[in-house]
Amino acid sequence: MLITFKQAVAKIQAANKILVTAHVQPDGDAIGSTLAAMQILRSIGKAAQVYIDDTARRNLQALPHFDEIRRPKDGERFDADLMLVLDTSTDRIGNVRKLTDAPILNVDHHVTNKGDDGELYVETTAAATCQIVYKLARELGAPITPDVATCLYTGLATDTGFFQFSNTGAETLAIASELINCGVSPNFISEQLESKTLAEVHGLRDALNSLKMFYGDKVAGMTLDHATAKKFDSTEGFIDEIRVIDTVDVAFLITEKAPNFCRVSMRSKGVDVSKVAARLGGGGHLRAAGCTLKTTLSEAEKILVAAIGEAL
Ligand code: AMP
Ligand code: MN
Ligand code: MN
Repeated sequence: MLITFKQAVAKIQAANKILVTAHVQPDGDAIGSTLAAMQILRSIGKAAQVYIDDTARRNLQALPHFDEIRRPKDGERFDADLMLVLDTSTDRIGNVRKLTDAPILNVDHHVTNKGDDGELYVETTAAATCQIVYKLARELGAPITPDVATCLYTGLATDTGFFQFSNTGAETLAIASELINCGVSPNFISEQLESKTLAEVHGLRDALNSLKMFYGDKVAGMTLDHATAKKFDSTEGFIDEIRVIDTVDVAFLITEKAPNFCRVSMRSKGVDVSKVAARLGGGGHLRAAGCTLKTTLSEAEKILVAAIGEAL
């Protein structure tokens, strides 16, 4: 069910023990928004704990309070009176869903989130969930400490491609500016986030070697097989290297995370790739979306190229 911002604030104010979570394969917005929310909630006297059912890529592990994130164990339960689900619908939180039967407050910015599970405040014009969490903090009267600001800025920066994508709005930059006033060092965060291991750079080379063009060069795609993909933990930024090709509208990267388990990333300059992703069981935004295809790499490529072709 959809609720308003004011109703979301009231739900938080009425709760005392809050379980905070975000999507698996967490990005900067997922980790940034949950860690910021945890600190904000604690600062206004709530008990709050972050659970995420996945590992996070190395660059995000330096965020303040990262080491307090828990991963649910088999059969584990957590005593909460509210579950705050950030940056995703509840179908992408893995076993965190089983930790509690507490009511769900879902706060998100994805157009594909329809709020089928629990109460949803969705702001599709927000560049990042961190942008909404910032406004919640202000409404709740919580202090924006340098640590909170660092987490929130990370989500804003990563979801906007460092303030370059079309989702970067005046409000995004105004909040980023506020966060700098609260103690953020943009250069420190950027250096942290852009850092890659040698294995990742080798992986980028392998991905670029796989580049294929489709539909009169309007679509560019790369694939990484499991043997290659298992050598490094993140493909963050790989797709941006082909998104920039002047003829390209849609770029994709398919990573075979495990045999018959392919992660799809898409970026677009015009086509609504959230619709392509949603048709294949995933979701996302107009210009950045993804899904998981449980099949071989070559079959996944066929399915995806056909679906993109229909959207062109
Ligand atoms: P990525 O390519 O992983 O950076 O993802 C781009 C966007 O698509 C992000 O906003 C994700 O939240 C969304 N997305 C990626 N994979 C999925 C999925 N399997 N289901 C729903 N949304 C997804
Ligand atoms: Mn995300
Ligand atoms: Mn996000």
